Formats: sequence, structure tokens, C-alpha cells
Amino acid sequence: MRILFYPICFRNDTVKVTLLGSGEAVGVPAPLCECRYCDESPTRRRPGLLVESEQATVVLDVSPDIKDQLHATNTTNVDAFFVTHNHFDHVGGMNELHHAAMTFDEHVGIEGGYLDSETFTDSEKPDDPTFAVYFSERGLDIFESSSAHLVDSLELRTMEHGESVEVGDIRVVPFPVRHARPAFDTLGFAVYHEGAKVVYAPDMWEFADDKEHEGADVLFAEGAALFRTFGHGAESDLRSALRSADADQTVLLNLNEHLQRMTTDELRDALGEMDVDGELGEDFATYRL
Ligand SMILES: [Zn+2]
Ligand SMILES: [Zn+2]
Repeated sequence: MRILFYPICFRNDTVKVTLLGSGEAVGVPAPLCECRYCDESPTRRRPGLLVESEQATVVLDVSPDIKDQLHATNTTNVDAFFVTHNHFDHVGGMNELHHAAMTFDEHVGIEGGYLDSETFTDSEKPDDPTFAVYFSERGLDIFESSSAHLVDSLELRTMEHGESVEVGDIRVVPFPVRHARPAFDTLGFAVYHEGAKVVYAPDMWEFADDKEHEGADVLFAEGAALFRTFGHGAESDLRSALRSADADQTVLLNLNEHLQRMTTDELRDALGEMDVDGELGEDFATYRL
């Protein structure tokens, strides 16, 4: 399927996909850094993908930049978040979701009895957002033991490799990927809407599923290892993984000019000389399918 851009109208049967972050754990600019690469490069937030249809909104990964990413895209209503794995750049925003999920009454002290329940009229109060957060079973275990203080306010659910989670007219299928640290149960996601398919695998040495990662209209995938840094695996393995995915369009993530010591143009030129049919990701780039 060819990607079409509809800057004004939003056909009912289309899905809008927004890349929330094209960077990796450090981000660009790097903390406290003023090197030329940080200075001259576009901002690269930590990874995430926003998928919006007529009926549903889902977000893949909960990066430490999540509050900024959601406000920048005018997103105030999310049905479900899906976490690929428990590294900081993918779950570092869970504190923000904890704040979002706490009720207004709990925040201000009405719940708990510190403040009179009549202090604020109902019309003064904001709507309390509701949403679910999906982890792999192993991911939820890790989250519950490392972040016990966040668990009570959030609606946490688990998902299984290869088993669909339906959110309105969007279907998310988690599948296993090999990460540089194999102890994690790291996931990629295939997202389906009508005839469209998007695949998201930001941290990946190679795919570890059978067919789910293949044939996307747009594949958002690890790209760091194609350049100078290790990324999550060997360059040759990543090249063959991207080739095997056979996507119509491949958008590379986990980019970082500061770590590569390359400018954005140098990254783009290097990519142009490779046998890889992909492009550099850009924060807040949108795709309509
Ligand atoms: Zn720097
Ligand atoms: Zn990771």
C-alpha cells in the first residue's frame, strides 16, 4: 500500500500514525551536553508511536518524554499504552501516567479526608483520564517489583506473544524480538487497522517471531547499528532483519547524532550508500494509512 498524506481531511477508514520519538535512551540533545552534534541536530525524544483511528487511540511505549510528546500532538485521550520492555527509554514515563491516572480528588487531598469534599464544585474539576497499560507478563513482574508505588493507580494488563489485543477498531499483536540483553522479554508490535499494518520494533538485534513482523506498510525499527555505534546488535544482522521484514516503507529509530558523532546529513548520506531501503525517523512525522 502506498502512503498517502491527507493534510486536511481524515477519512473514516484511515489510521493516523505519529512518530513520538526517533531517539534512544540518551536523547538528543544529551543531558548537559553542548557539543556541536547536540547543538546542530534536531531534537530526538525517546521512542514512541501514536496510532489514532476514528474509534481508538493507542500509544506504543511510555518514554520519559511522554508528557511533552502527548501534549505536542494534542493527545488528551488514550485508550491503551503498550510497553515493549522495561528499559528507561520505554517505561521512564510511567510516573507521568501515574499522575494522569490519579483522580483529581486523590491529588488534592479530598480522597484521604485531608480536604473537605465541598472544596471544589464538580464543574471546577477536570475529567479524570482512564486508560490501560499493557506489559508482557515478565515486564509486569519487573514493573511491579521496581515501581510498587505506581501500581495501585494504574490499570495494568498483560499480553501474550502472538495474541491480539483489540482496542476499538485497532488490533495490536505483540511478538518477540531479540534485544541486546536477552534477559528481557522484549516485544515488537504489529498494529492493524482495516487493511493497514504498522510494525514497531525500536530495540532490536533481530526479529524472533515467525511472520508477524513482515509485510508492514510502515515499519518503525532500530537503526543505530547501521551506523557507528553497536545499537542493539551487529550491523549485518540488523540489515538482514530489515530486509526480511519486507516493508513498503522503513523508518529508522534509536538515532543519536551525539553518540554517533555524525551530523544528521552525514547519517542520511551514509544510509544512502547502504543496501538498506530506509529513511531516518523524525519526531512528530505523521503517516496516514
Ligand atoms: Zn553532545
Ligand atoms: Zn532496551
